[in-house]
Amino acid sequence: MADNCLNDIKSAITNMHKALNSHQRVHPEVTGPAKELAVQSQKLLDLYLSMTDQLKSQIDNYRLLINDTQTDNNEKLQKILDKLESTPANEKPTPYNVVAQNPPKINYKTVLVKPKNNLLNPPQTKEAICNSIPACDIKCNQISINKTNVAFKFSNENSKNKFLKSVSENPDLNTAMEAYEPTPKCPTIKLKNIDYSTNESDIINQLIMQNDMQDLKNHIKLLFTIKKRHYFDAILCVSPHVYDLLFQRTLFIGWSACIAEQTFLLGHCSNCLSFQHRTKDCPNKSSKKCKNCGISFSTTRINNQQSEFITHIKNCSHFNCCHCAEKNLPAEHPALTDLCPLYCNKIKQTWDRTCYDSSTKVKFFNKLSIPNVTNNNPSTQPPSPSTP
Ligand SMILES: [Zn+2]
Ligand SMILES: [Zn+2]
Ligand SMILES: [Zn+2]
Repeated sequence: MADNCLNDIKSAITNMHKALNSHQRVHPEVTGPAKELAVQSQKLLDLYLSMTDQLKSQIDNYRLLINDTQTDNNEKLQKILDKLESTPANEKPTPYNVVAQNPPKINYKTVLVKPKNNLLNPPQTKEAICNSIPACDIKCNQISINKTNVAFKFSNENSKNKFLKSVSENPDLNTAMEAYEPTPKCPTIKLKNIDYSTNESDIINQLIMQNDMQDLKNHIKLLFTIKKRHYFDAILCVSPHVYDLLFQRTLFIGWSACIAEQTFLLGHCSNCLSFQHRTKDCPNKSSKKCKNCGISFSTTRINNQQSEFITHIKNCSHFNCCHCAEKNLPAEHPALTDLCPLYCNKIKQTWDRTCYDSSTKVKFFNKLSIPNVTNNNPSTQPPSPSTP
């Protein structure tokens, strides 16, 4: 009973460590508390073991005492000690997935209000709204102002709709401003190892036809592909309401089956690994920086020989993360991996900005050809081959 309980906790801690190691891309807001829980559980377990050891030896001492002193109360004492040694059978450890559950993140519904006809600036826009719409009617959580507009955040759909209606139906307001819901940042997924018998332009169609997803047709969009030797990967942008339907599901595309993985586009340069510009804007196109050691090598091939870069990365085992080294942080790890705190932070920021609210539907307009990855469509994710 007690042994079972102990073994359950031990294996739960081991499982937690295993899960943390094999799913390194889980959000730090989840892995942080999970790691903490594993450490604290282990401490509690050690404390429990040392306390029970102490109690056991105390019981043994009392037993010796009873045997030495023959009194009438021996039988009673014996019963008490027996009871102390038995353990309650109905106590079970709480499963770690129950304990580790984080409070759910609030998905705010945002409405942007943009001044129009040059009548007001953003602070005046805010003032006009606050003076014309009674706050008691609408539950607004937060207002923020930037150079071009005012953002109102609501925690429920009703308040958001009421607010939109109040602005659009008020003649004083609607002549000077426009209220609208911004297109949310949509989740991105990666489909790995697609066979080259599938044309890039057919990916979305095949995905929809072969996996019975006809009603999702306008909610999935191909961003770009990553070509590899025998197969290629496709990076897709999906409407928030589609994400849960696809995540970790096996999907058939042509002659391949792939598992939909979560991915994040961090928009770094694939040549010099900088986060400051995209690959197409890199001033240094003829060399590439090694993710391990942070040194740049030429990518030029001379006489059909391997480039310096390719020769180097096959043998490089020295770790000096270029991003951490630049900020004088400990850098003995490869860049752009889960071992780098700056990279993890970028992932977290992107994750936090992405909308995963399954009630949010975003429609894409799939072009027949492959989307031009360099266009500046605001609803498009910043594409870059940054997925590790
Ligand atoms: Zn660059
Ligand atoms: Zn290197
Ligand atoms: Zn680093």
